[in-house]
Amino acid sequence: MMLGTDVSSLSTTAATAAAQGLSIVVPVYNEAAGLASLHQRLCDLAKSLDHRYRLRCEVVYVDDGSSDATLVLARGLKADGIDVQVVSLSRNFGKEAALMAGLDHARKGAVLFMDGDGQHPPDLVEKLVGHWIDDGYDVVYTAKAHRDNESLLRRLSVRGFYALINWGARQKIPEDAGDFRLLSPRAAAALRQLPERNRFFKGLASWIGFRQIRVDYEPAAREHGMTTFSAGRLVGLSIEGLTSFSVAPLRVASLLGVLLASFAFLFGLSILWETLIDGKSVPGYPSLIVGLMTIGGVQLIMIGIVGEYIGKILSELKARPIYFVAEHCEKRADARTDSGAEQRTAAE
Ligand code: UDP
Ligand code: MG
Repeated sequence: MMLGTDVSSLSTTAATAAAQGLSIVVPVYNEAAGLASLHQRLCDLAKSLDHRYRLRCEVVYVDDGSSDATLVLARGLKADGIDVQVVSLSRNFGKEAALMAGLDHARKGAVLFMDGDGQHPPDLVEKLVGHWIDDGYDVVYTAKAHRDNESLLRRLSVRGFYALINWGARQKIPEDAGDFRLLSPRAAAALRQLPERNRFFKGLASWIGFRQIRVDYEPAAREHGMTTFSAGRLVGLSIEGLTSFSVAPLRVASLLGVLLASFAFLFGLSILWETLIDGKSVPGYPSLIVGLMTIGGVQLIMIGIVGEYIGKILSELKARPIYFVAEHCEKRADARTDSGAEQRTAAE
């Protein structure tokens, strides 16, 4: 029985890349205002990739339960030099689930993930594709060139998060890497093989290995609307990412336990020394209360951490689907005419 997965048959050379094509996965949640202009930019991009590499592209818009007109607009988009799929989820499942739905529906070989708010510049895609086709990289990920416009607190939190999640890890998750990345056919196949339901996409895309390269870029300002990730949601996402990807918090818990126990032991010895050798009577009260409160607080935190992991085990055990597709439609780009033939299947 083979316990690993062999994806070597999908390896790409410059000659085979074009035949395999590229799927661009775009999760959209209430992005109606900028969808048409983004689509236009993607159509232009597809034409230029076709021209340069003979690479055929498709775009997979995953509507993550938007409450505005995103879905209606997405259905009406023209397949102008690019195949278009619109996958509409039954409710808002969150970006990670939307990315997974896009990956599952992608029909071409390589897969590129980009945000639907215009912050991930389509102009950069040609460079990413170049690293894949010309230089033979499997995972081309982008990272913020700098964090100068962010507060010190936020930068320190990010530092701490990555220090913790990468602690003792063989394959480190690159700091600052975003979800804007390209996976070669074999890397995409590897990512599809990972069975977990609690997905931390950045971590998994790095964990699979292969030849990876970093591309620095400056994210554009959001063209409209506001980020859906508030500070509170980011903290939640960090806990989610940490606990579904790494056991570092459990190790910190054990280490802290060892430290506290050693401290208590030494403290006990010193009290014994004072009583037996120096003959001092121990007043006791303040040290007792401080000790009690420290141990009590630390224990509660540790129980919380263990609880997070038990929650993860429960959700993996329940094995619920990560998303439901309520509607799926697709349009094939026709090489000769501007509008593609429409094919539509409801309630996939
Ligand atoms: N998004 C999504 N589901 C959500 C929240 C966001 O599909 O529940 C999409 C959103 O439409 C956008 C991308 O994820 O295309 C990134 O979201 P956002 O711009 O709010 O995050 P930020 O850029 O601030 O990290
Ligand atoms: Mg954004």
